[in-house]
Amino acid sequence: MAKIIQAIRGMNDILPAVTPRWQFIEATFRKLMQVYGYGEIRLPIVEKTELFKRSIGEVTDIVEKEMYTFDDRNGDSLTLRPEGTAGCVRACIENGLLYNQTQRLWYVGPMFRHERPQKGRYRQFHQLGVEAFGFAGPDIDAELIMLSARLLTELGLREQVKLEINTLGVSEERQAHRQQLVVYLEQHQDQLDEDSQRRLHTNPLRVLDTKNPAMQELVEQAPRLFDFLGEESLAHFKGVCEFLTSVGIDYHVNHRLVRGLDYYSKTVFEWVTDQLGAQGTVCAGGRFDALIEQLGSKPSPAAGFAVGIERMVALLEALTESPDVAPHAYLLIAGEAAERQGLALAESLRDRIKDLRLLVNCGAGSFKSQMKRADKSGARLVLILGEDEVQQQTIVIKDLREDQPQRTVPQQGIDSILRGFIA
Ligand code: ATP
Ligand code: MG
Repeated sequence: MAKIIQAIRGMNDILPAVTPRWQFIEATFRKLMQVYGYGEIRLPIVEKTELFKRSIGEVTDIVEKEMYTFDDRNGDSLTLRPEGTAGCVRACIENGLLYNQTQRLWYVGPMFRHERPQKGRYRQFHQLGVEAFGFAGPDIDAELIMLSARLLTELGLREQVKLEINTLGVSEERQAHRQQLVVYLEQHQDQLDEDSQRRLHTNPLRVLDTKNPAMQELVEQAPRLFDFLGEESLAHFKGVCEFLTSVGIDYHVNHRLVRGLDYYSKTVFEWVTDQLGAQGTVCAGGRFDALIEQLGSKPSPAAGFAVGIERMVALLEALTESPDVAPHAYLLIAGEAAERQGLALAESLRDRIKDLRLLVNCGAGSFKSQMKRADKSGARLVLILGEDEVQQQTIVIKDLREDQPQRTVPQQGIDSILRGFIA
């Protein structure tokens, strides 16, 4: 036999047993986006490598070691998108969507990062993303957080997550802090791990984000960016906090929260859970006012967030039953005359009964084997169409899950019975 070809490590098949949860998350999200007035944008999965280098930052984990980059046949360097914001901004600039106007946008789709695969961390993963452009004030930061909170509530996950927020100020403030931070870290160079040694001069803010337990004490004592913030940044942050308080969203200010991407400024936030081990961040975002100019357009403020769908699914799996998508009824077809009429009967039921989930037996089979298939399908009811029923225009209806006597009813009269089983 030929050798079986397997999927690429860290890139998962999402099988029918699990997809109802994905659909639940995506449908809830889509609905909310409509409710809040955000429009969908669909973007390419591949972009020029330069786009990610310039936006995410050369000295980030993503650009340094996680991108799927390859040469196109004509020699252009292309990259599978590791996140959605860069492509979204690129598309908005290219299509003139930021010119003298605001935008509220969302997208969903796969992202690619060459990380070490583990629970909650994959090489192809999926995000729901939201971006708002052209709003400078703290109101939109708060709206985005409220929207993410509502999403978590509607998914039934709100009790499982906590909101952490921080502010990264503006570039000049980060520069001033950076100088002091580097001095401090240099004084303790012997305590820095290898990653942090490397970041010390390239991206020292990220040292504060270290997960290394041996370095916690060191980063606790490090100079805080917050102490370098000017009036404007502080007022913005205060504004966000006040809006959150006004709607009763609890938050924890975490002064060490930085994000893995360079383009953030001012507000950053994460929804984290302690139910998923080390990969506990299910949603993350913030403001990125400098990015649009960095990508060559007239400056425009921006903020957004992304939800990791796999982590949401994992959280749902730990807590709730899978959504019920089993058929309401299975149509069993016995005998030649019934075989000729079965599909047409099913179509007519589908015409008449909205949302009926009806599975039709295809491929014939004995009565017994069809009953087995009906049971295995998870259907609540089996509808039996045999020779007698064809002749008398009736159908037999039997409850597979409750001990009820089976009934023979006229084919036209079955609608109200079936409707009673549709939630
Ligand atoms: P982390 O700290 O977990 O590596 P990040 O800062 O790299 O996250 P973002 O780029 O902000 O993550 O992505 C937003 C969200 O997407 C994360 O909060 C997480 O839920 C999800 N995510 C990021 N990387 C992965 C991955 N490799 N596999 C699965 N989900 C991911
Ligand atoms: Mg990461």
